[in-house]
Amino acid sequence: MRDETKCLHEGYAPGNGEPGVMPIVQSTTYRFDTTERIGELFDLPTAHMYSRFSNPTVEAVEKKVTSLEGGVGAIATSSGQSASLLSILNICSSGDSFISTSTIYGGTVNLFAVTLKRYGIECIFVDPDADEEEIQNTIKPNTRAIFGETLANPALAVLDIEKFATIAHKNNVPLIIDNTFATPILCKPIAYGADIVVHSTSKYLDGHALQVGGIIVDSGKFNWSDGKFPEFTEPDQSYHGVIYTETFDTAAYIVKLRMQLMRDLGCYPAAHSAFLLNLGLETLPLRMERYCQNALKVAEYFKSSPKVESVLYPGLKDDKYYRAAKKYLPKGTSGVVCFTIKGGKETAAKFINGLKLACKEVHVADIRTCVLHPASGTHRQLTDEQLVAAGINPGLIRVSVGLENIDDIIEDIEQSFNNL
Ligand SMILES: *Cc1c(COP(=O)(O)O)cnc(C)c1O
Repeated sequence: MRDETKCLHEGYAPGNGEPGVMPIVQSTTYRFDTTERIGELFDLPTAHMYSRFSNPTVEAVEKKVTSLEGGVGAIATSSGQSASLLSILNICSSGDSFISTSTIYGGTVNLFAVTLKRYGIECIFVDPDADEEEIQNTIKPNTRAIFGETLANPALAVLDIEKFATIAHKNNVPLIIDNTFATPILCKPIAYGADIVVHSTSKYLDGHALQVGGIIVDSGKFNWSDGKFPEFTEPDQSYHGVIYTETFDTAAYIVKLRMQLMRDLGCYPAAHSAFLLNLGLETLPLRMERYCQNALKVAEYFKSSPKVESVLYPGLKDDKYYRAAKKYLPKGTSGVVCFTIKGGKETAAKFINGLKLACKEVHVADIRTCVLHPASGTHRQLTDEQLVAAGINPGLIRVSVGLENIDDIIEDIEQSFNNL
């Protein structure tokens, strides 16, 4: 199946006379005939047991996203933040470190640089455009993973995934990619060597700004058995002595994450959220196509406007990341356009307040056009130094172009420019 077909048919195959749409299985628990059967499930989780870590409605979405990304398994989470967190905690313990590119979502910077540090896990940030040798030099004996974003929020830097995959694999550590902005419709990081893919499904995958969620997809390709990751190859005392690589083979990472971390931390989405997410996924390919078209037109409009100092959109021919985008995002460069307005921070505020159609909200990838000033919003917790490292100018405005008629979107921007 191609993506459009997968979005409609993967994950749920109704039997004779069953509901045509995946039902919302609103149940905490599942019943079995005997206590022995329940005992068996504690040894090998082949059925749903408890909705803190698995549920049929959520599973249908997990299967759909697994298929779209080309992985062997996935686990949904209650937010994108918990997806990023668990993707690291499944590999790193206190005393370990990992590498992340500096151009990542502000919330992830905070999670990695501040919160994980308090628990003894160190994140070393690197410039995504640094050459291989420079990145290699940041790797230490306790480095356990490399993390980056396909299309960085909001610097709109396109990651050279193959470069990072090469470095990661040379050092026998997995590459984790946050694919939120690209979605599997525009880029499939596993095809370029990523081992784990995470998403905030709150963004394009849901697409309608209905519910917060995340997902982690396992490519099944990373070799955990070379001695560097004993928690995968030695008996897990918290789980009846199971050895993940032996019992679950290529799905070791994702099963371990579900059975240890989701069991213990419980940040699993509700069935109703998964049902809504599935509705969003059904139209994802169509929506992404239009987001890309509308955003390119908005980017071109900004480019031609005398009110604008600079524009970031990798779909523009003179953008720094145009060549990388041609390779990794050949179908389009998604719906977010950033620009720096002439006149700095105050003019930026005046422009945003003058918009009539575009929503002023803390969100991105909504079906409706929305705008945000990262330096005073999503990224306000960052120091000036971190802002620069994340590629964010204080006057930068992030426009998440929606699916309204393109003429209405541009007329709204134009009228606000004219009132400055
Ligand atoms: C929003 C976002 C997150 C965090 O996701 P939540 O669902 O808000 O927790 C992580 N990464 C990227 C790229 C994001 O845009």
